Amino acid sequence: MIHEIFPVGPLQCNCSVIGDEQTREAMVIDPGDDIDDVLAIVRRHGLTVKQIVITHAHIDHIGGANKLKRATGAPVLLNVNDQALLKMMDVQASWIGVETPEPTAIDASVTTGDKLQAGSLVADVMHTPGHTEGSICLYFAAEKKLIAGDTLFAGSIGRTDLPGGSFKKIMGSLLGPVLALPDDTIVIPGHGPLTTIGEERETNPFLAG
Ligand SMILES: [Zn+2]
Repeated sequence: MIHEIFPVGPLQCNCSVIGDEQTREAMVIDPGDDIDDVLAIVRRHGLTVKQIVITHAHIDHIGGANKLKRATGAPVLLNVNDQALLKMMDVQASWIGVETPEPTAIDASVTTGDKLQAGSLVADVMHTPGHTEGSICLYFAAEKKLIAGDTLFAGSIGRTDLPGGSFKKIMGSLLGPVLALPDDTIVIPGHGPLTTIGEERETNPFLAG
């Protein structure tokens, strides 16, 4: 598995480029900004981007998606429950003081039960509302990796005070499907350092005890 994780944009969203070493098929997750850098990584590994997956429609995760779509022709996958957030990209831009990015449309909505593939690599989609209504996580079972978006961080959880946020729902998502994953699952949060499910189960103040 090729897996490059690198922070993009002013809020340093963790963007992932995931590729199959044999077929060179790839998916890009959360291309919030710095699309030239994303494309350089794609080219360096000789990858073909088959899909662009967005964990949720906050500007720092989705801002560069349409530019990447124009460059690669790959469809944008996002849970439909974040449609309202998509429509207020100008408001989101004003929150963080950046220009409104070019609009992104949902080519297909993804939710629990869907499987996304890049070559032989398979990710299960988990709909994990709470940070936003349409937040998803991607679980690569064979590699024991969770792309968590802004649902789970090392030592913290996603904020729930923005439009569409719900503390009750994020706790349901975390105590339900997320903590059902094995302890040795590597967690790639939407921001900041990597962690594991076991580490968070033990020490995260929102989850421990
Ligand atoms: Zn967010």
